[in-house]
Amino acid sequence: MLKTLKIPIGIAVALSTAVLITSIAMVNKLDNSESVVEVVKNNTAALSNSLALQLSVIMERNPGNDALLSTLFQPIKEYEHLISAAFYDNNYSVISSFQPERVLEISDPAVPKTPQSVPFGMNQYEGVIVAHQIVGSSLYPLGHIVIYADIDNVQTTNSARQFLEQLPVFLALWLLCTGVCIFIVSRLISPLASLRRFTQDVFETKDYALRSSINSSNEIGRIATNINSLLDAIEVELLVNFEQKETLVDQQETMSRLANFDSLTGLPNRQFVLDNLRLELARAKRNDEDLLLLFFDLDGFKGINDSLGHETGDLILIEVADRVQCLLRDGDLFARLGGDEFLVLPDRDASADQAKRLAMRLITAFDEPFELRGLSLTVGLSVGVATASDAGYDLSELMSNADLAMYRSKARGRGSYTLFTPDMVESHKRKLHLANGIEQGISNDEFVVYYQVKVNNNGNVIGAEALIRWQHPEFGLVMPNEFIPIAEQGGKITAITQWVIKQVCMDMPDLTRWAKGDFRASINLSGHDLRSNQLFDHIYNTFTLYDVNPENIEFEVTESAYLENFSLSNKFFRRISNMGCAIALDDFGTGYSSLSYLTQINIDTLKVDRQFVTELQSSERSRLVTGAIIDLAKRLSLSVCAEGIENLDQWHYLIEHGCDNVQGFMFSKPIPINDLVASPYQYKTGQFV
Ligand code: C2E
Ligand code: CA
Ligand code: CA
Repeated sequence: MLKTLKIPIGIAVALSTAVLITSIAMVNKLDNSESVVEVVKNNTAALSNSLALQLSVIMERNPGNDALLSTLFQPIKEYEHLISAAFYDNNYSVISSFQPERVLEISDPAVPKTPQSVPFGMNQYEGVIVAHQIVGSSLYPLGHIVIYADIDNVQTTNSARQFLEQLPVFLALWLLCTGVCIFIVSRLISPLASLRRFTQDVFETKDYALRSSINSSNEIGRIATNINSLLDAIEVELLVNFEQKETLVDQQETMSRLANFDSLTGLPNRQFVLDNLRLELARAKRNDEDLLLLFFDLDGFKGINDSLGHETGDLILIEVADRVQCLLRDGDLFARLGGDEFLVLPDRDASADQAKRLAMRLITAFDEPFELRGLSLTVGLSVGVATASDAGYDLSELMSNADLAMYRSKARGRGSYTLFTPDMVESHKRKLHLANGIEQGISNDEFVVYYQVKVNNNGNVIGAEALIRWQHPEFGLVMPNEFIPIAEQGGKITAITQWVIKQVCMDMPDLTRWAKGDFRASINLSGHDLRSNQLFDHIYNTFTLYDVNPENIEFEVTESAYLENFSLSNKFFRRISNMGCAIALDDFGTGYSSLSYLTQINIDTLKVDRQFVTELQSSERSRLVTGAIIDLAKRLSLSVCAEGIENLDQWHYLIEHGCDNVQGFMFSKPIPINDLVASPYQYKTGQFV
């Protein structure tokens, strides 16, 4: 029920007008009763005088006629206020009386009950008027008249009558007053009602732009103005709050982006992926499903960064992200784990077929070179694939399995993919074992240098490449392709390189004696070696110690290793070259397709990678690349050495196309120094037929 002020105000008005009107009626009644008493008094006095007169006449004309006297009281019975009346002689003996017993019924003790005690004249008491009149003259009194008249009764009956007469008037007056008051009050509080409706509207619509239109100057007007000011303040506050909230939301988004997304590529970052992967693994395990995880990194990315600058590296990472994104479907998760490492979590279908298809799609997507800042760069991928079931749905095991598979791809050669198999964990253990045994292997003399001859077009040996092996006490003969990358990762390569340099220097007298003339022993350097400032000093000191002529030494370095530390490499090889050593760029043609750097570096020989030689007969592309490398070398006045010659056709082809020197199993596999010095120094075409 709507509570309204009108009801209590109406009740208050009705009550107060009732009280007012009743008060008026009371005053009126008081006034009236006084005049009634006066009337009764006058009437009683008149009655008393009239009786006294009549009695004096009767007594003078008919003395002793008491019967006549008693008739005198007959008419006064009609007098409505009379209580009692009596006529006494001069000795106050009753001559005649009317209702004398009622005098005794008067309760007020102040009223005199005997005629002698009643004072002469008109006497007024509480509720009673007593008249004492002398009959005859005061000089010759004939008797006394005493009359008692009731004024109480008169008042009551008179008031009641008067009340009944005035009641309709009072009622009408009361209704009129109440009605008028309620009307005025209603008019006065009607703005209050509209203010109530207005505040209700604001509350319900939450529209704080609303304003009250009440503009009176009274209290209600001031409340309305105050409410409007309050709404102004609320609006301002809301605006400030809204802006603050927007800022907070923005900040929160930025923070979440920073925390979960890679700022360079915009891809989810490692943190985001780990959180998601943990949930996905739990879900897959619950539903008895499998999950596929692909890891990949860019082949030779470090070299690009070092040679072409981090900005170019960053551009490549962005392009890689875009290129891969195009291959994926909605729902596939693609993230950058850090550096040049990326992860793909396909949404559906964790079959091996799907894994292979996706890995192949990834790899072939990178066949196309990146066109950046006028450069055309080919960047390959090494992909590792692992499944949740193989990892027992364990997050870190899954990541480590994918990582192992990826490193297996790297070891196999660039641009390949590997599906994780449990035996890789074994091989990982072997890796760790090898990594931990390198230093001890060096001090225990477990390493051996084998030599593989290099021959010129006449079949004469012009040098030999020193290729290290590890005679491992547990694993037997371990090949460099296995332990060199491990040594590089474990920071142990410098110790190996130094050992090989020392060993070749120690073998040099035997080698030069066997070769009987110009001979170069080639030593392989790793990219990691070039970062060490002490390498040159070590080489110099070792040459000095073993009295080695630097012209008998050639250093081989892959183009990626050279470019990984471009400026350091350049500085180092300039010093090496100045000393008299030769420098060969190994595995040429497999890494960078940008050849512009060739004019800036200090080398003597380009070594055509074995891959091209092997494919000479089968691949037009390999023939073209080989031809181009030889051509390029000629233009740059560099000599060309091809490796991996296994048959005569390959040799003939290379000779025909201008290759200077060759190396391959056809002539000799890498062999220990003792075997080498016992082998022929010249190879004839005829001996291979
Ligand atoms: P590389 O420098 O390209 O060495 C040539 C590799 O090709 C040698 O493998 C050699 O045995 C092999 N090879 C040569 N001719 C033929 C052929 O006709 N057919 C086939 N199938 N293979 C042929 P190896 O000795 O296993 O060495 C592998 C790699 O290990 C080397 O590749 C080199 O990168 C690295 N390496 C070897 N010794 C050292 C070293 O002392 N220091 C460093 N840093 N790396 C080394
Ligand atoms: Ca080599
Ligand atoms: Ca090579």
